[in-house]
Amino acid sequence: MAKKRLVVLGSTGSIGRQTLDIIKTFPDKFELIGLAAGNNVHLLESQIEEFQPKSVYCIEPSHSIIKNKNIQLMSMEQMVSQPNVDIVMVATSGNIGLIPTIKALEKSITVCIANKEVIIMAGELIKTISRKSGALLLPVDSEPSAIWQCMQGESQPIRRIILTASGGPFYNIDPGELDDVTPKQALQHPTWNMGKRITVDSSTLMNKGFEVIEAHILFDVGFENIEVMIHPQSLIHSMIELTDGSIKAQISPPDMRLPIQHALFYPEKVANPMLRPFDTHVATNMELKPLDKSRYPCFTLAVSAGIQGGTYPTVLTAADEVAVDLFLNHRISFTDIPRLVDSVLFDHKFSKADSLENIQAADRWARLKALALAGDTQ
Ligand code: MG
Repeated sequence: MAKKRLVVLGSTGSIGRQTLDIIKTFPDKFELIGLAAGNNVHLLESQIEEFQPKSVYCIEPSHSIIKNKNIQLMSMEQMVSQPNVDIVMVATSGNIGLIPTIKALEKSITVCIANKEVIIMAGELIKTISRKSGALLLPVDSEPSAIWQCMQGESQPIRRIILTASGGPFYNIDPGELDDVTPKQALQHPTWNMGKRITVDSSTLMNKGFEVIEAHILFDVGFENIEVMIHPQSLIHSMIELTDGSIKAQISPPDMRLPIQHALFYPEKVANPMLRPFDTHVATNMELKPLDKSRYPCFTLAVSAGIQGGTYPTVLTAADEVAVDLFLNHRISFTDIPRLVDSVLFDHKFSKADSLENIQAADRWARLKALALAGDTQ
């Protein structure tokens, strides 16, 4: 079979690197034709050396990248619009993956999406585009991937989705101590090794709120039928309840390479010798506990923004990105993150999220508003 021609957006981030790891494991299956990265030019140079892509995007390309005659520098939109692309892995973070995702879906290209902000900002819009073009939109994030894997082969509708959450590094900390949490502490996730923003978002459970919105959009399940349970071991990646009350769970060691390869190979399933098998001696205590929402104001903010719909989810993710960035730069405290996001959401006026213009306008507004409010409070 012909190799699948792949573009990886966000190749130097955590999901991007693990995607390249899968490609390395299966060199006969994939041809990497494009790489896009942000600021990690050094790693990008070594990825170019190793995978020899024909097209490259980089915010500030180095001299050696510019001088490389074997590659063509182009924008991410141009990269996904090339005539020979089969799959685009969107492993960027924040709003940067939005337009390339739309472009790829318009061109009927399969999009594997790890950049959940894109789904949260433009879920209905990208679903409409992919319905029209027939493009596949495949989840990569471990929870929606788990739901998707559980659904395969099922004809019954989903009655309920149960997302699992590790609880993050502060699950056992007294809420009164959260004011003094440092970026270093927030960046220590107990079970997953991920990028900075998503790690902080996991510690506030904003990330789980994003996943509730993502599950609502991707699987057409009402917010009232999506629940979250704390599962500190990160082995059960999510569950679905079917019409007859039966519950299916997807279980595997916490390793993103499994959901990545599930999307890249879909509908094929392959054995990957690099993936650690489920260890029956380690997994003897798989706890599931109800979520105490009062501990996680970011989670509650996210779900209510999702229920309000329109441009509220865009404002949520934009304000959160600014807030997390300010926190990581020691400009605001950990507990200021939900305060700032809440204030921005409070000031937002509803608009429909049915056009790219509306979504981008809400995104810009929320970022400026968050920065202005943070400036006001200092
Ligand atoms: Mg996740």
